[in-house]
Amino acid sequence: MWIMNSNTITGGCQCGAVRYCVDGALTDPHICHCRMCQKAAGNFFMPLASAKRDRLHITRGEISWFRSSEPVRRGFCNHCGTPLIFDPLTSDHYSVTLGSLDRPDLHRPLKQFGTEAVMPWFPDLPGLEAHETGADGEMDDGEVEQIAQSNYQHPDHDTENWDVKP
Ligand SMILES: [Zn+2]
Ligand SMILES: [Zn+2]
Repeated sequence: MWIMNSNTITGGCQCGAVRYCVDGALTDPHICHCRMCQKAAGNFFMPLASAKRDRLHITRGEISWFRSSEPVRRGFCNHCGTPLIFDPLTSDHYSVTLGSLDRPDLHRPLKQFGTEAVMPWFPDLPGLEAHETGADGEMDDGEVEQIAQSNYQHPDHDTENWDVKP
């Protein structure tokens, strides 16, 4: 049985139907630009870090799986679709998606893979026009307020009880 302590890393999906924890540190934080990770993330790359199988615990709900190739399956929440796990089936490690962690800012990627598919304009990103949420003039204050007041995303910490929105 696992014990929650200060070395426990927690995370979960956007809707809160699936929560997980990892005992101890995550290793090998990285991003993968490969075309399969792009598609699985719905993003330009997938951020991942690893934990031994026996240190990863699903603490709420259950993971759904897509077998993306013979050696790999990818785990996600089947209610909200958040990608959660990369599972190289014959390995003793899983990887978790860093964006699903409660504190993604603590897991800085140290390597990148799949660079054959990296977006050629990544070096230009820091130069793009930049706005904080609600400060881009696209939404008026009422809309920003309405989103803040009706935020159905699970908070970035474990909860005793949580009503998943339909
Ligand atoms: Zn979910
Ligand atoms: Zn990949």
